[in-house]
Amino acid sequence: MTALILLGPPGVGKGTQAAWLSKYLGVPTISTGEIFRANIAEQTELGALAQRYMDKGEFVPDSVTTPMVATRLATPDVDHGFILDGYPRKIEQAHALRDMLVARGVPLDLVLELSAPEDELIRRLEGRATQEGRADDSAEVYRRRLEIYRQQTEPIATYYADQDLLEVVDAQPAIPQVQEAIAKVLKERSLEAAGE
Ligand code: AMP
Repeated sequence: MTALILLGPPGVGKGTQAAWLSKYLGVPTISTGEIFRANIAEQTELGALAQRYMDKGEFVPDSVTTPMVATRLATPDVDHGFILDGYPRKIEQAHALRDMLVARGVPLDLVLELSAPEDELIRRLEGRATQEGRADDSAEVYRRRLEIYRQQTEPIATYYADQDLLEVVDAQPAIPQVQEAIAKVLKERSLEAAGE
């Protein structure tokens, strides 16, 4: 069982590293942003609701997001572990997650924070907006997302650091180097790659 949280500002490369980590550790990724985007694509009610917030760079309300994560954590494919990408994003969600995991008897193994300076993030986001055409990646919305990240998400790093669960990895180098650094952290924490 490997229970891991990926933390980091928008544009830092969480999605890319989550996909790699999922293969590396042999556990699924739970990405709240991806679930919302899939719902938008399928034109569900949840998608319509989420889009109103995502388009502005705001958080989707906890009353929607937290039960969605709880449902996902109750599906059998996460019995051997999971990587949470994009949840928790604020202290209330961190507390809700703690309660969910306690109820399931699952201890959290690691919170991995990917970090990069703001100018690097803005440069990356501009690239991604062009490539993927993500509506929530316009410069104005991005700045709003970054501001909310600083105000609401960054404080949860301290919450996890106090529990000795936090490891910070510099996400500025090229992707393979970042992966090497992550693999090193996992090894130090005795979290083994799949098949080892
Ligand atoms: P992401 O793909 O993780 O960058 O998420 C895209 C957008 O989905 C965010 O900017 C929020 O609007 C929404 N979202 C994703 N995860 C959460 C969450 N844990 N709480 C609230 N809103 C979220």
